[in-house]
Amino acid sequence: MASGSKKIHSVNRPSRRLVMAGLAASAGVSGMRGVRAAVPQVVVIGAGVTGLSASKTLSAKGIAHVVIEASDRIGGRAFTQTQTFGVPCDVGAHWLHNGETNPLVGFARRAGQAPYEAEDEWTLFSGGKWLEGEDEEDIWDEIDDADRAIERAVDWGADVAAASVVDSDTSALAKFLIGPYEHAASLGSLSTLDWDRQNEGTDMFPQGGLGSLVANWGAGVPVEFGTQATRIDWSGGGVKVETNKGTLSAEAVIVTVATQVLASGAIRFGPGLPDATERAIRDLPLGSYNHIVLQLDGDPFELEEDTMVAYSGVGGTAGLLINAGGSGLTYFDVAGDFGAGLTALGDAAMVEFAREALRDMLGSDGVASLKQAKAFAWERNALFGGAYTAARPGRAGARQALKRPVGDRILFAGEATSVSKPATLDGAIAEGARAARSIADDVL
Ligand SMILES: Cc1cc2nc3c(=O)[nH]c(=O)nc-3n(C[C@H](O)[C@H](O)[C@H](O)COP(=O)(O)OP(=O)(O)OC[C@H]3O[C@@H](n4cnc5c(N)ncnc54)[C@H](O)[C@@H]3O)c2cc1C
Repeated sequence: MASGSKKIHSVNRPSRRLVMAGLAASAGVSGMRGVRAAVPQVVVIGAGVTGLSASKTLSAKGIAHVVIEASDRIGGRAFTQTQTFGVPCDVGAHWLHNGETNPLVGFARRAGQAPYEAEDEWTLFSGGKWLEGEDEEDIWDEIDDADRAIERAVDWGADVAAASVVDSDTSALAKFLIGPYEHAASLGSLSTLDWDRQNEGTDMFPQGGLGSLVANWGAGVPVEFGTQATRIDWSGGGVKVETNKGTLSAEAVIVTVATQVLASGAIRFGPGLPDATERAIRDLPLGSYNHIVLQLDGDPFELEEDTMVAYSGVGGTAGLLINAGGSGLTYFDVAGDFGAGLTALGDAAMVEFAREALRDMLGSDGVASLKQAKAFAWERNALFGGAYTAARPGRAGARQALKRPVGDRILFAGEATSVSKPATLDGAIAEGARAARSIADDVL
């Protein structure tokens, strides 16, 4: 952040009006700071990219609001940490998808975190060997066949499990690449129509980590940290948002927490949500996609940095991003049903699987090159409950259903409500802005 930091702060420094809005709003929490003062018009629950985007739009429209966040940081599922390896490590989101339209790309350029295009170089390993020639071609052919089968179903408008249209003899490696590695869900849990909403644009990486880019992008948004919403009362006019620090009253609320958090009942609603909303929440579970990050000595793979390796062996599948951005870190990602089962066994089991896969691919020299490893398990964090959403088979309409305002004053927004770019940061940013505009236009 050295040379870019000055610019970042001049772009995002909160205006005085915004600071006042934030303070007035927090003073409106009964029990919080012991003062009951001005009432915010809108409460935004969650300071991931959706909540940050909603706040930016509300501020631009001069609407007094407060953003509450249960944790002690912004960014949610986009988070870069340096503690473990001494270099930036993206614990969650790592790719800037849809580079042509993603607003974070322009911000990254202005902020001195200039993004570069992700390579599309792949190497495949399966059945104890590196695949070459016909063996490799066979896998890509299987992937083409599976893609075509799903696209045919999409053309017919058939919203069914992707597994039901893909040849069941397709190899584990090909199934992993068309399902879990992109969608965090195995083909049996993936709606064909939702699968078709995958990203088609250019993938990019920002310098310094995507989580740190998001932290810079949201730095000017005033947030009440350590404030966890537990209940939303919409029985009268407006809403009352109950938190661990007291109750906030407002005219409307934007709820940006993950659908898995909502499905867990961590936030209760009084009266209960309409059946269609409840159903949509349950039809959009978060899938499993987790990084096991490896710090390797030297260049044991002898591959260019940012090369992708698809791995199948020692009882499972994984996708590797080798020496990401020259950082010395290799992202070893597990996902879908296999990833969920492994993750449930704990961090040590995840690291052990990665270690055995290294042995399988590189022999004992590969294992010896491993300096440090750390697994990050999103489904074990109750503030998220998983990685990102995949609509259940037959339920591709759930994203649209969840967008519908409840009682004209509760709006759900997030990667889950994005129909055009689900499961992505840019889709979530657009949804935060959409919810804020909807409140400005239709509620206040
Ligand atoms: C491992 C992984 C890899 C990914 N890879 C990519 C990628 O490469 N590219 C990409 O574009 N996307 C990727 N994603 C998806 C992307 O991170 C999400 O789509 C996006 O971050 C969702 O943002 P959000 O604001 O909607 O939700 P969140 O980030 O979940 O934000 C919600 C916020 O609400 C807070 N919260 C929860 N409960 C409460 C409560 N009761 N009260 C108050 N606050 C609460 C949470 O702490 C959180 O900060 C990845 C995600 C994961 C986990």
